[in-house]
Amino acid sequence: MREFVKPRVIISKCIGFEACRYNGLIIKSDFVEKLKDFVDFYPICPEVEIGLGVPRDPIRIIELEDELRLYQPSTELDLTEKMKKFIDEFLDNVHDIDGFILKNRSPSCGIKAVKVYQGFGNSRTKSKPGFFGNAVLERFSYLAIEDEGRLRNLKIREIFLTKLYTLAGFRKVKESRNLNALIKFHSDNKMLLMAYNQENMRKMGRIISNHDNKPFDDLISKYESLIHDSILDPPQNTANINVLMHAMGYFKNEIISGEKSFFLDSIEKYRKGIYPLFVCLNILKSWIIRFNNEYLGEQTFFEPYPEELIPITSI
Ligand code: SF4
Repeated sequence: MREFVKPRVIISKCIGFEACRYNGLIIKSDFVEKLKDFVDFYPICPEVEIGLGVPRDPIRIIELEDELRLYQPSTELDLTEKMKKFIDEFLDNVHDIDGFILKNRSPSCGIKAVKVYQGFGNSRTKSKPGFFGNAVLERFSYLAIEDEGRLRNLKIREIFLTKLYTLAGFRKVKESRNLNALIKFHSDNKMLLMAYNQENMRKMGRIISNHDNKPFDDLISKYESLIHDSILDPPQNTANINVLMHAMGYFKNEIISGEKSFFLDSIEKYRKGIYPLFVCLNILKSWIIRFNNEYLGEQTFFEPYPEELIPITSI
């Protein structure tokens, strides 16, 4: 059983924490409820933080002279500067966080597809991220950032959790300032990093081999920028399949032909989108246990986040 570092996640407060929406309601999310036992959440409501009450009249993003403003039509209040000040102060103090879960379509928290109105009228021109969501994306693009709406998609959940737990594990190594911990992290994540970006994975391997005896701080900052770059985009199915095939190679002399063809058939179903990835991973896991393969047993690729969270990524 892997030991996981508990990720730290900033979340829009209205998602399961407080009834602070403009209409006095709370958003119920089974996903967030389940995660509460596995993640340290830090809830924040930018609109309440700038002094708007609950309930409150809705606010919106408007475009005025090519500039986006945050505006409350009923009071004609322009809240842009207040919100920007809050965002800067708040985000300047965000450290050691692994991800964000933000409310979708909110003019404050949304990370995409928020309505933008043309001037003071009701015609909409485009969609953009909200003010807070946009600032989060600009400052922390390398973290696990999703909106609650997109997280209803199971594939997106799987990608989000993988990234979140990888970043949390790395944060712990960084805090430890211990080269052996970094070497172990790299070794355990080798197959996962192979799936994300094989070229970067090799560069990271060269960093930790540390032929020039560089201090830990130098190594970790180089390693960090590569890991952030590597996990920016999720692995392609083909990259995951390459890793699955690579892992199967460890058992080529041990499994019987029926097992091999069953596994290859499962990979084919994964390629076609019929099976989720974890079906193939589970077959490999059963071989890892049966043949007691310690190296593969340590690989995060086979269990990137706690097993208890698999049902919420696969139902
Ligand atoms: S979406 Fe953001 S600003 Fe709006 S209620 Fe939720 S936490 Fe507050």
